[in-house]
Amino acid sequence: MLSSLRRLACAAALLLAPVSCLAQASATIGILAPEGAEEASRDWDRVITYLDAAVPDTRFQLHYFDLAGLREAVARAEVDFVITNSGHYVELEASYGAHRIATLEDTRAISPTEAIASAVVVRADRADLRSFEDLVGKRVHAVREDAFGGFRIAWHAMRGAGVEPSRDFRPLAFVGFPLQEIVRAVERGEADAGVVRACLLENMARRGEIRLADFAVLNVPADDSFPCLRSTALYPDWPIAALRDTPHALSKRVATALLAMPATPGGISWTVPTDYQSVHELFRELQVGPYAYLREQTLQAFLLRYRWWLAIGGLLALGWVVHTVRVEHLVHVRTGALRDALAAREAAERAAREGQEKLDHLARLGILGELSSMLAHELNQPLSAIGNFARGMERRIEAGRLESEPLLDASREIAEQAERARAIMQHIRAFSQKREGTREAFRLPDAVRNALRLFEGVGARAPRVETRLDADAAVVGDRLQIEQVLLNLLKNALDALQELPQRERNILVTCGREGAVYRVCVTDNGCGLDARQRERLFQPFFTTKPDGMGLGLTICKRIVEAHGGHLWAEPNPAGRGLTMCFTLPAPDAAAPAPERDAPAVPLER
Ligand code: ADP
Repeated sequence: MLSSLRRLACAAALLLAPVSCLAQASATIGILAPEGAEEASRDWDRVITYLDAAVPDTRFQLHYFDLAGLREAVARAEVDFVITNSGHYVELEASYGAHRIATLEDTRAISPTEAIASAVVVRADRADLRSFEDLVGKRVHAVREDAFGGFRIAWHAMRGAGVEPSRDFRPLAFVGFPLQEIVRAVERGEADAGVVRACLLENMARRGEIRLADFAVLNVPADDSFPCLRSTALYPDWPIAALRDTPHALSKRVATALLAMPATPGGISWTVPTDYQSVHELFRELQVGPYAYLREQTLQAFLLRYRWWLAIGGLLALGWVVHTVRVEHLVHVRTGALRDALAAREAAERAAREGQEKLDHLARLGILGELSSMLAHELNQPLSAIGNFARGMERRIEAGRLESEPLLDASREIAEQAERARAIMQHIRAFSQKREGTREAFRLPDAVRNALRLFEGVGARAPRVETRLDADAAVVGDRLQIEQVLLNLLKNALDALQELPQRERNILVTCGREGAVYRVCVTDNGCGLDARQRERLFQPFFTTKPDGMGLGLTICKRIVEAHGGHLWAEPNPAGRGLTMCFTLPAPDAAAPAPERDAPAVPLER
């Protein structure tokens, strides 16, 4: 405050007389004197006198304050410097930017950092009181809760010994200044123990106010070089501190002057500012002064104390929420996509299945169409035989030749031919109907021969067919379906041979055992297929013929695979033509083989 007033005054005065302005500059030093100015003034006056001389252009003034008063003066910027105890200085440092420029140096102390301590005083005749623990349940007096040497240093030491003054003393009484009253209360037995600044006892004894022998101090360290009895660790001596508004140049001149100041008769001298970290630690452990927020359990204190952790936790929680929402969203989107894909796939499979069923049926009808000419040819023979036998019987009866034997033969023949015609019809119907496959044991050579008979019904186009068949080749399955496969392969071979002259057309059908399967091959010397065409051979509707449907081999492959076999095409080693082969599993040795000569084929000529 005064520094700013001073600057204003200077600014005005400088217009008239700059020299007189310098002479009028003043600075105020606030000093902690909790027991009143009278107690403290004498030696401090010497310091002021010294400073006035050492810094001649500034007039120094002293103001004495108790703890609260000094704090208010600092808050209102009414002082330029403060001289106060180390604990109070640490509080002003935290709240008002006070910064030490020198530290008191007591010639009697060990060093400036080891100058202040507390003494816990009891009567010498109290043999029951020798340690802090002995004070549990006792009446203890101290000056104020916020006194540094007068309470807090002792409080810290007691807590270190496991004694908590506010909890363990009965009661802990703060009786205020003067400090000497505490010693007298102990002397009178009104208190069992009293907490005072170290050296107070010795000072009182020196002034003749007490007899040192009447008192004992608890917890005194052995072989102590400190000049007074003490109960606690030592802390730094008082500092002089400049404040936020104090001009830097003035602080520097005051510090320089004080460091050069000779010791006063009262023992006051100054040294470089010392380390007050030990005071900070004491305050932090007691959770007082600048660290009082550590003990406040309010929400605000909690938030203040853990703000960084809370911020990090909040960020993590936010990240987690964002992550969870994102994952949920992705799962939702992908589940939807998967569901759509599954539905589409099922629909496609259903359509394919239905298409395949239709194709199967259409293919059978197509083959039926192809077979219709063969049907006429096949039925022609039994029907004309029936007609011939019937007419023969008619002529015999008209001629009166009624011998029973020939008539019986003719009627048997008629019945047999009718049965053959019925079998032909059944066979053809089996191709055109959707029917479940049957399982029967049959011989492959028989199936080959049946297929060849149908094939030869094609007429003049049919080439010479050579066969090399293993007579023992027997399999289990649907004979009609296998014949259908053979017929299809033969018909394709025939189509492939169309460009060759009739006499050069050759088809070879082989059937033989290969390990656990029988292998049937139809070889022709026709146009053949290149590698690319062979790859597409079994695709539905692949055809190279103008009137082809491209379904025959698809159906054949399905039939063969339904029997546990394979169907494939391979180029002929000779170079020209194609060989179509399929395999069928040979039945177990235990399975009964069909009779060699049994009539396994309904379509016999
Ligand atoms: P389609 O006979 O109606 O064309 P297929 O499925 O029976 O239908 O035959 C498909 C195609 O395979 C035929 O168009 C033909 O090009 C080819 N193919 C089948 N067998 C032979 C063969 N032995 N030689 C040459 N090409 C063949």
